Amino acid sequence: MKQIALYGKGGIGKSTTSANLSAALSDRGLNIMQIGCDPKHDSTRMLMHGKWIPTVLDLVRERGDKAISVDEVVFTGYNGIRCVEAGGPEPGVGCAGRGIIATFQLLERLDALYGDVVLYDVLGDVVCGGFAMPMRESYAREVYLVTSGELMSLYAANNICKAIQRLSRRSRCTCALGGVICNSANISGEKELVGAYARRIGSRLISYIPRDNIVRVAEVNKQTVIEYAPDSPQADVYRHLAEDIFENDTMTIPIPMETDELENLALEYV
Ligand code: ADP
Ligand code: MG
Repeated sequence: MKQIALYGKGGIGKSTTSANLSAALSDRGLNIMQIGCDPKHDSTRMLMHGKWIPTVLDLVRERGDKAISVDEVVFTGYNGIRCVEAGGPEPGVGCAGRGIIATFQLLERLDALYGDVVLYDVLGDVVCGGFAMPMRESYAREVYLVTSGELMSLYAANNICKAIQRLSRRSRCTCALGGVICNSANISGEKELVGAYARRIGSRLISYIPRDNIVRVAEVNKQTVIEYAPDSPQADVYRHLAEDIFENDTMTIPIPMETDELENLALEYV
């Protein structure tokens, strides 16, 4: 079982990339599970054709952990992909990472964590204990950073690198970085910048995903690009990424950059 996590700043394109990646992998005949680990709980929506599935945290809050069955938290979407949303706290109270912790405990107890690929879509703005859990507890063995060329998303990516590096010093933790995905924000020099960043941290740019309106068109039609426009160039990009990730066996422990170094690097590519 391959256990992959996509980490990145909020709004950078993690869920779009994750859902298309899952769809492309499932089209290869693989058994896929996608787990949304973001309080926004919309990771699997396009795979579910627009349906908002109940979150684990909401169910646990309502009924406690013991009374929940697999069918209440694992939903079947496009091509048989099993979809789960961890959920998040009610605004103003609680810890955002709790949904993730509750989700892993429940899925473990229900024996529901299986498949050829389990893909975690994780918010990486704050790499607190909860959000680091997929890596810390070695659920996610391969981490992919999703970033654009914008500094804010590179800062977030760099923070995730710091978490991986720190966690790698623990003997129990087996997570490592599989590569960097540049989801384009359409700014000049960004492919080169993100490529240079990936090299500087000891990794590589595994994919450059163009900004394309077909993503929005597919989204308003409540589908992934893979399903809505399988013959589009954008679908090809996601299929290539799926192949590269599926075959990737080069993992590294990243060496994060200092903030001023990162800012100087960005200056070279404006
Ligand atoms: P995240 O999960 O990181 O918060 P989303 O995947 O929800 O981000 O993406 C945020 C918005 O950006 C969505 O409306 C999505 O349609 C759009 N988007 C993401 N990637 C692309 C892309 N490559 N081209 C065009 N729009 C994109
Ligand atoms: Mg998301």
